[in-house]
Amino acid sequence: MTQNSSSIRLQLAPQILGVLAVIASVLIVIFLPWPFLIVLFVIGVVYIRLLFSKIKTIRDQTITQHTELLQEQHERNEAATLMKLLIDAADIPIMATDDQGCITHSNRNAQQMLRLNEDIIGLRFDELFTQQVLHDLERHAREGEQGHAKLSFPIVGEMREFDVSADPVVAQKYHMLHGAVLTFKDITELSLAMTLKADFVANASHELRTPIASIKGAAETLAGPARNDEGMSTRLIEMITSNAARLELLAIDLLDLSKLESQDQSPDIQEINLQNLISKLINESMQAATRRGLEVVSEVSNEVNQIQTDPVLLSLILRNLVQNAIKFAHEDTTIKITVEPDSISHDRTIPIPDSLVGSMGIRIRVIDKGIGIPITQQQRIFERFFQVDDARSGSSAKRGTGLGLAIVKHASKRLGGTVSLESVYREGSTFIIELPRCIQTNLD
Ligand code: ADP
Repeated sequence: MTQNSSSIRLQLAPQILGVLAVIASVLIVIFLPWPFLIVLFVIGVVYIRLLFSKIKTIRDQTITQHTELLQEQHERNEAATLMKLLIDAADIPIMATDDQGCITHSNRNAQQMLRLNEDIIGLRFDELFTQQVLHDLERHAREGEQGHAKLSFPIVGEMREFDVSADPVVAQKYHMLHGAVLTFKDITELSLAMTLKADFVANASHELRTPIASIKGAAETLAGPARNDEGMSTRLIEMITSNAARLELLAIDLLDLSKLESQDQSPDIQEINLQNLISKLINESMQAATRRGLEVVSEVSNEVNQIQTDPVLLSLILRNLVQNAIKFAHEDTTIKITVEPDSISHDRTIPIPDSLVGSMGIRIRVIDKGIGIPITQQQRIFERFFQVDDARSGSSAKRGTGLGLAIVKHASKRLGGTVSLESVYREGSTFIIELPRCIQTNLD
């Protein structure tokens, strides 16, 4: 302001001074002797030079200030654009509010999370969310208090769990509070995994504890009261052996499951002869099947005899299904394994191993006439450690680890396929494995 008025004064000064100088010159020329005239002329010239240099300095200063202002404005615009790009690139929803609680920034993820198409800038934060916890978090952050909370809210009808952090935003220049910034981390899958892990550990330790307790009890009785009782000793040794076998089975299943769940190894896809693989499995289970008067037969369509798959994973799937069928089929019935080609549209959420190049798939069915699975339990049958009550309380020959079908599900998934079940309680079960794109040559 003072600089502006002084520059106006300086801009007018030369004109006034010019007029005064003309008048003075006329008077001086008329009245003053020439030596004075020379001195005055020199003073005038020096003054005018000083005046011009002052004007130049002020003009230069004004130009510099203007350029600096433009530069600052440009930098601020660039910073704002960069900030927008950065928060848009963040893969979690972020929102910022001003000191009044109105949204000033929000990234694409926040917009998607809220499923809002219109711009939310300018809206009040507490009108966007109904949860009091969130309102409090945002308000406290605006007042300078950092905080975070875990809470669930529905996103398109599905409850999702979020870890929300709220931080105060402090204006750098005056160290004043400016608003709040909130980040929403979706932890739904993480908490589900934590719950599953906790359940898994609890179930596994329960399953391990039972045979260990039996072995311990039997060994103590053997060493004490049953030492000289031959009949009792034989029974106890049998008990130890069967429980040790159960422990071994559990260890094998746990290892299989853990290998399948850790995605380290990709399937080893090879060209295999399906009929040979199935015949080998049938031979393996012949003894157990004959013990119950069962027959295991296969029907493999010629078109699918040569397929592209991981033989270890496929054997793991079929072995578990056949073993279950042998356990749960009614005595003297037939267990059937059928394979047919099919143009199975694979579920996009399940990635197909890269090396599977064909366009056709296969459908394998393992069919038994047995105790079946009640409809109410069919949903949960592929969960780890889940056993239908009949199987839990049945004879020890039937009692498994409860991991077999979880292994089948994971192994099918690794091959880019799926497993499903059709079962009628007390009549029988059919487990269906669908493996997409494992036949190399197209069928016409
Ligand atoms: P398990 O080791 O107990 O067999 P699985 O995961 O293989 O564990 O099977 C889980 C449960 O599903 C079994 O305990 C049994 O109750 C039921 N089940 C599996 N296969 C069959 C079948 N073919 N017929 C009837 N019930 C079955």
